[in-house]
Amino acid sequence: MPVRLHAPTVIARKRDGESIEPEVLRAFLDGYLSGEVAEEQMSAFLMAGVLRGLDEDEAVVLTDAYVASGAVVDLSALTGPTVDKHSTGGVGDTCTLVVAPILAACGAQVAKLSGRGLGHTGGTLDKLESIPGFRVDLDPDELAAQVNRIGLAVAAATRDLVPLDKRLYALRDVTGTVPSPALIAASVMSKKIAGGADTIVLDVKAGNGAFMQTAAEAGDLARLCVRIGRARGRATAALVTDMSQPLAANIGNALEVRHAVDVLSGRVTDGRFRTLCLELAATALHGAGCSDDPMQAAITALESGSAAERFTAMVTAQHGDGDVVERPAAVLPEAPVIRDWRPGAGRIGLVDCRGLGEVAGGLGAGRSRKDDVIDPAVGLQVLGSIGDTVTDGDVVAMVHARTDDDAQWALEQLSRMIPVGEHDVPVPTLVHERIGGDT
Ligand code: URA
Repeated sequence: MPVRLHAPTVIARKRDGESIEPEVLRAFLDGYLSGEVAEEQMSAFLMAGVLRGLDEDEAVVLTDAYVASGAVVDLSALTGPTVDKHSTGGVGDTCTLVVAPILAACGAQVAKLSGRGLGHTGGTLDKLESIPGFRVDLDPDELAAQVNRIGLAVAAATRDLVPLDKRLYALRDVTGTVPSPALIAASVMSKKIAGGADTIVLDVKAGNGAFMQTAAEAGDLARLCVRIGRARGRATAALVTDMSQPLAANIGNALEVRHAVDVLSGRVTDGRFRTLCLELAATALHGAGCSDDPMQAAITALESGSAAERFTAMVTAQHGDGDVVERPAAVLPEAPVIRDWRPGAGRIGLVDCRGLGEVAGGLGAGRSRKDDVIDPAVGLQVLGSIGDTVTDGDVVAMVHARTDDDAQWALEQLSRMIPVGEHDVPVPTLVHERIGGDT
């Protein structure tokens, strides 16, 4: 018997903390797509869901409804094991640019559909577009042909992928209803499932630069995502990782590409960013069955230069300047004003990671509205980490700005965001938890 929908009852039941039966929730979501459920009713439902909770069965129904609302990428033309990776978003977090080439160098195929930055977090497409000429608008046949040829492509998701998530995400963004584990899990996993890959690795961030503030909350979200992925037949694993400070020193589009190519080329051989890229790559290779010793395979791909070759091949295939790995300074745009920040002697305390992302955004690296135009050259370099000892005269951060005024503004913000003094705080753990994948 078809469900007879009465939207106010569904909302009131959720307000009272009830679990909504799958067929009723499906009817409610279908009603929203058809216009029978109004925006204000959906907003009220989302707020009730955030406050009273949505359970795992509800998260699965939401995920399936998002996927069913649009097209699903057909990767059947690909010949190798298909792998996808997703980060829940952070600051200085550009792992895709290193992880995808490592995976391709190890025999996996990565058809990665990425997004743009919004708020304090950056977006992979914006970063890649700081490479002159780089094209992100590949059609499905181009995407598949490129991945079969060189093992990877990073492109914009087409409009018809998970349109229900797009509508609901925009609504959540303006109604204070983003931070719900079930809503985030459905949003993330629907994009990954519609993206078509057999193996999925998730980087779920915890800390003040992430949606989830604590490792425990992020762990719960990661477990939920892994269960949803597996319920839908995907080999899914997750790492819960630190976002209480920027992952890499560089924050801003061209600056982040610069750091990624420095790691790929071997000019940078250590640091949290490189370590996490290897961890994510090894987890994905393990899930895809690509290697008996996935961590060693990932290290070899990086150190032998084969990952760098794959990155160059991708940039060239997508019409970007392939010299970016070897000669980044000649290829990437540079801001006209660069200023050092020297705070004086002390130890670095707990930083405001989200604030640092917002300062980079305020310099022009990010958007506060979808149609804002970003400046690829501007941003921050945060050279110190929590717990580091700073001596007088040390440069702890650098501001890359369009104007002196912008630089001055950012320098003033830095002293609030990176406390240097008599702090004694523990150095944060990089990987808090591994869920569903042993390497
Ligand atoms: N990232 C997503 O894709 N969706 C969310 O809801 C939150 C983070």
